[in-house]
Amino acid sequence: MGDALNFIEHIVEEDIRTDKNDGRVLTRFPPEPNGYLHIGHAKSICLNFGLAEKYGGLTNLRFDDTNPAAEETEYVESIKEDIQWLGFDWEDREFYASDYFDQLYEFAEQLIRDRLAYVDDSTSEEIAALKGTPTKPGTHSPYRERSVEENLKLFREMRDGIHEEGTKSLRAKVDMASPNMLMRDPIIYRVKKVPHHRTGDKWNIYPMYDFAHGQSDSIEKITHSICTLEFENHRPLYDWFIEKLGIFPSRQIEFARLNLSYTIMSKRRLLILVNEGYVTGWDDPRMPTISGLRRRGYTPESIRDFATRVGIAKRNNVIDLSLLEFSGRSHLNKIANRAMVVLDPIKLVITNYPEGQKEELPAINNPEDETAGSRMLPFGRELFIERTDFMEDAPKKFYRLSPGRNVRLKHAYIIHCEGFVADSNGFVQEVHCTYYPETKSGQDKSGIKSKGTLHWVACDKARDVKVRLYDRLFNEENPLAHEGKDFIEFLNPESLKVIEHAKMEPNIPTEEVGAKYQFLRTGYFTIDKDSASETLVFNRTVTLKDSWKKIQNK
Ligand code: ATP
Ligand code: MG
Repeated sequence: MGDALNFIEHIVEEDIRTDKNDGRVLTRFPPEPNGYLHIGHAKSICLNFGLAEKYGGLTNLRFDDTNPAAEETEYVESIKEDIQWLGFDWEDREFYASDYFDQLYEFAEQLIRDRLAYVDDSTSEEIAALKGTPTKPGTHSPYRERSVEENLKLFREMRDGIHEEGTKSLRAKVDMASPNMLMRDPIIYRVKKVPHHRTGDKWNIYPMYDFAHGQSDSIEKITHSICTLEFENHRPLYDWFIEKLGIFPSRQIEFARLNLSYTIMSKRRLLILVNEGYVTGWDDPRMPTISGLRRRGYTPESIRDFATRVGIAKRNNVIDLSLLEFSGRSHLNKIANRAMVVLDPIKLVITNYPEGQKEELPAINNPEDETAGSRMLPFGRELFIERTDFMEDAPKKFYRLSPGRNVRLKHAYIIHCEGFVADSNGFVQEVHCTYYPETKSGQDKSGIKSKGTLHWVACDKARDVKVRLYDRLFNEENPLAHEGKDFIEFLNPESLKVIEHAKMEPNIPTEEVGAKYQFLRTGYFTIDKDSASETLVFNRTVTLKDSWKKIQNK
């Protein structure tokens, strides 16, 4: 990374140097309100707002709401919430492509008057049949040479609802022989008698994306219109409209979209997961949506850090999900209070600790943050530890409990394993230890050795909490890359594991929804909105280490 500029920053700096647009930088983030934002959008948001911040410019939020069928107000609200949460501010510059419908309509009439657009009576099949192929030029429509008057009359009739859907469209008169198929007289307006979430039933015609997006940029005087690579071959058309209409010359710049392994980024497919109940909603913590990542426990800082690490490329690539997890961990390590929670409890009895004796041991909340203070941990004769921290016949490198071995209990004492109690099936029910009173944490001058350190919770003060452990949503790195197979087939059936009765220490500093914790040795967790007053529910954001990588590399 370092301080090297990415290719878009190079363009912007050159524009500033040559005083293009008077040195002004105005970008925009243009979501279509047809779903919740995902991590790919987050990358685009960070890029657009980040560039403006860096070069003293501004960023508009513009809803690209030209398709009345799929768009909803719920999505508008969620999009605004997500951008704000990421830490960006569009101030009063909240725009809608639909606000420009009158102006876009005027642009269309202007093209007609300049003999650069015509009403075509062909059906979409007929238009397709005359389009040609990339190597074979198309054929002119029989309606291409209509007079300006006739075109104006017909286009106004389309606007006024006189013509039915599919019977007429307005096409730009560009070049039916262009090697770029998008330049072969693209449709710019179609009849669509569907009410719009903002303009109601005012319009019977709607502009196509290519006629709305660039012109909206121009109307807002956007200087750098950044979009993903799929739009590269739309650029000649984008520039053609600007030139022919004589409007503000926004510049379109394409970059590679973010692809993440083991998940999908298409709103249409994410909607299927939601609608068909494969997940609990757009904010299910397994979803790659911003709201899902937020609920999962990711912080805005970690997502912005991820966007920076991913960088800006000109070629499409796939980023490993573990990079996102890395960014998540790095920030959570700094801000999360530590807590002791036993996920799969087994009882440990300290046989030489007097019955009825109690003590409280100080524990610092966050070694990375002195201001986080400390809390008291109740300690006693009976504790819970993780079942996996005890082994009857342990290999030499097992630095946990096994008969005859020492370990330290975090913030407490070194203990020595004496034995265990098993049921008739050999299932271990209790681990028995003795402790060394002279090894109290912070005061230990005994010289007694121990290798591992375990987390634990006092049985009589333990609080039951519910814990949700997540794994990747799909088993396949790219669930969409398997021809003839539905991506649903690759859903990971073990993407969610719920622990109903984990044992937590009693005195955590805050129980607010969204509070972040590092459970010692098991990962970073956040309090979920499903928490009721009696049961806290925690979502695991990420494990402490990248266990997946290790498994894969074996
Ligand atoms: P999807 O394919 O998920 O439906 P979209 O491109 O249709 O996404 P828009 O709402 O049109 O979604 O996108 C808004 C902005 O976010 C656009 O500028 C688009 O280029 C950008 N964007 C969308 N997906 C990604 C991605 N995966 N990586 C980077 N930018 C993205
Ligand atoms: Mg889109």
